[in-house]
Amino acid sequence: GVRPLIAGNWKMNGTLREAAALAEGVRAGLDAVGGADLLICPPFVHLHVAAASMGWKAVGIGGQDCAAEPNGAHTGDVSAAMLADAGCGYVILGHSERRADRGETDALVRAKAEAAIEAGLIPVVCVGETEAQRDSGEAEAVVAAQMAGSLPEGFAVAKGVVAYEPVWAIGTGRTPTEADIAAMHARMRAEIAARFPGQGETLRLLYGGSVKPSNAAGILALPNVDGALVGGASLKAADFLGIAAAV
Ligand code: 13P
Repeated sequence: GVRPLIAGNWKMNGTLREAAALAEGVRAGLDAVGGADLLICPPFVHLHVAAASMGWKAVGIGGQDCAAEPNGAHTGDVSAAMLADAGCGYVILGHSERRADRGETDALVRAKAEAAIEAGLIPVVCVGETEAQRDSGEAEAVVAAQMAGSLPEGFAVAKGVVAYEPVWAIGTGRTPTEADIAAMHARMRAEIAARFPGQGETLRLLYGGSVKPSNAAGILALPNVDGALVGGASLKAADFLGIAAAV
């Protein structure tokens, strides 16, 4: 199988000092969690100090977004090449908070993923249904459509990652049943295999949404779940490492 990836999305939290301490806390506990690759995704302005605290290599560093354009007159944006230069190997794209709060469309996420790949970054593309969509039985169709629209042609060659994050499970303490997660991930694997023949089995599919140390082992043991994208619990080194240790 694929080596699992446990990714921490720090979102818009913390100070520079706290970012350095959190990164150092993760680094200090690494030896106990040899079964998974770890990735931390701090806010832009904390990337450099977090990467430095890591010793630059032991744990992957990722951005939480990047521009679709390579450079130029785009005030307030950060390019994929800038992220790579700051020590990143990954970038989260199309998180539901950006889709909902910043109006990001599948087409924009796809353009950003192309820019990320061009800069040598691995895109972590997020998909997931709302509660209303799940209640009306549309969850798998919504996720399949988001994947079709958001993943660029070069995604499989670039070893891209897809994160399934049901919107209603993010920050709520609620998760789908393990059966529902497994069903969605099987559908995602089928979509990947159909779109990228021969390459689908090697791509990592993460689950995200209220993952914590107490539910991680069950979720991470499910077929086609190759890791987790962790929000709130990634802000405490012990919890993040505890999730990684559940692999
Ligand atoms: P929580 O783990 O806080 O539910 O957040 C999940 C998430 O959005 C990770 O990207």
